[in-house]
Amino acid sequence: MKKFALIDMDGVLYDSMPYHTLAWQQMMSEIGISTDRDEFYLYEGMTGRATIDLIFRRELNRAATPEEATRLYARKAEIFVEMGQKIPMKDADRMLRTLMQQGIGRVLVTGSAQHSLIDRLNADYPGAFSDDLRVTALDVEHGKPSPEPYLKGLQKSGVRPEEAFVIENAPLGVRAGKAAGLFTIAVTTGPIPRKAFEDEGADLIFPSMTAFADALPELLSTL
Ligand code: CA
Repeated sequence: MKKFALIDMDGVLYDSMPYHTLAWQQMMSEIGISTDRDEFYLYEGMTGRATIDLIFRRELNRAATPEEATRLYARKAEIFVEMGQKIPMKDADRMLRTLMQQGIGRVLVTGSAQHSLIDRLNADYPGAFSDDLRVTALDVEHGKPSPEPYLKGLQKSGVRPEEAFVIENAPLGVRAGKAAGLFTIAVTTGPIPRKAFEDEGADLIFPSMTAFADALPELLSTL
């Protein structure tokens, strides 16, 4: 029986990935680097620094300096905020209510340092995440796909790995969850094909948050 859900934020609780990918592409174009917007879905979960480094090594054949990484990630975050209000993922509230009603604890596990979203959690999902049960970019050194964020989340939950499960929308997030030894559920809320999640070893894959929220009440008794 599972006691805790470790829950990712972007692409799970918020339909924010279309804006993140656009902000990444726009920031890169401002410094003269042309990218494919969809490629940023594949880097989802990595720290901003790691993403910038990956693009720099590929396009400029060098690492980004710490100063560049800080400045460019700040610019990307600024563009993201300028895009306006972020929309809660449809039926994520229903999913969280089911967990709360069935006494399943919740830990937020995000690689994000995007305060514009983290600060909205209490308003959009009241009572779902207490302040001491949140892992953000400030708590981790490596970010996903390292298991570190999920190991930290597990630590905060106080339960054993077999008593917890992960809810993720990104292939690298699934890899992080599995590397932490956790049962990992993928909800495919973006354009990445199902196969990418199978390849990362997702234990269950749902085609939308609505499908996952529909299945969850019965699913919980089988986990
Ligand atoms: Ca995500």
